[in-house]
Amino acid sequence: MNVPFVDLKAQYHTLRNDIDNAMQRVIERTAFIMGDEVAQFEQAFADYCGVAYGVGVDSGTSALEMALRAHDIGEGDEVIIPANTFIASALAISYCGATPVLVDIDPDTYMMDTALVADAITERTAAIMPVHLYGHAVDMDAILALAIQHDLVVIEDASQAHGALYKGRRVGSFGHTAAFSLYPAKNLGAFGDAGVLVTDDPAIAEKLRLLRNYGSTKKYHHDMIGYNHRLDTLQAAVLCAKLPYLDAWGKARRAHAAQYAAQLADTPLVLPKSAETVSPVHHVYVVRTAWRDELQAYLKERGIGTVIHYPIPIHLQPAYAELGYEAGDFPVTERYAREILSLPMFAELTDEQIDAVVAAIEDFFMEKAMAAFDERVAVPA
Ligand SMILES: *Cc1c(COP(=O)(O)O)cnc(C)c1O
Repeated sequence: MNVPFVDLKAQYHTLRNDIDNAMQRVIERTAFIMGDEVAQFEQAFADYCGVAYGVGVDSGTSALEMALRAHDIGEGDEVIIPANTFIASALAISYCGATPVLVDIDPDTYMMDTALVADAITERTAAIMPVHLYGHAVDMDAILALAIQHDLVVIEDASQAHGALYKGRRVGSFGHTAAFSLYPAKNLGAFGDAGVLVTDDPAIAEKLRLLRNYGSTKKYHHDMIGYNHRLDTLQAAVLCAKLPYLDAWGKARRAHAAQYAAQLADTPLVLPKSAETVSPVHHVYVVRTAWRDELQAYLKERGIGTVIHYPIPIHLQPAYAELGYEAGDFPVTERYAREILSLPMFAELTDEQIDAVVAAIEDFFMEKAMAAFDERVAVPA
């Protein structure tokens, strides 16, 4: 049985009528730019997060950049992010002329290590950007305490955690502003690039609306040098159709994770652990093993898709050589980059598919054990 890493078609087929009709309505009205669905989605998503304002944009990367700009972060400022995250968290900081400052991750939760965040704060630190990676949540009490103590802005990168809970509250509702990617394979995905910001601050919400639309208050009146980073109406229509299902999808992902955990418990894999304060939405299901590359190749041969999130940490990318970090600076991130593997995970994953993934993993370790046994009992010639 082939098991794809992610299956976007399965989700489309369950919602086909809703989505097709929503898109058709936009097309009939030719309301492609800033049509009513944009504001509808913004309010619905803000309500979902328990935050006052939502602002739609054209990608998660734009959302992060606009958030930083709205908070006047730029040249000379430092922004603290985890060493293990998607590169876009760092790129958005660079676009603003600020400097990403990396910290290592917690070995158990794989989230940014909040004790190390405290050590990384300098005179130039302007913001902390906790990344709710893999659908888990960062320890926000610790981050918010540091932010208050040092008067820092907190911008959540919630691109992988739509709907995840920290102490019963949704991520995105903790920082001054939060950014979400709505890339097709994210837990809430558009039919192309899209993103959204949420904030409780009316002045920041207003500034974000100007920034994403040429700095324009009304047509041909420009208060600031803004950008063209609007959310397309067609994408907003798709997102409005999908949002009501987001909680059910999060629940399904938690059920799949529980099933993986139960069925893989007796294998040598290190399984993901979540903090007691967190209800994760498992954007990806990340296991660890010293035989990662061999296991990935074995699963590929059996038709099972896997991905590594992420194989090369930001500080070891040529793009960020200028930051001056070296191999060894973030030992947990570096070690995990060699050992982590994301197994198939999406809401529509079936029991049979999970069984197939588990069986293949069991076979892999059984074959490894047999090979090791054969080697030990082999009589030297
Ligand atoms: C996907 C992602 C982004 C970037 O979002 P895009 O919509 O692809 O621009 C940023 N941060 C994290 C953690 C992500 O997973």
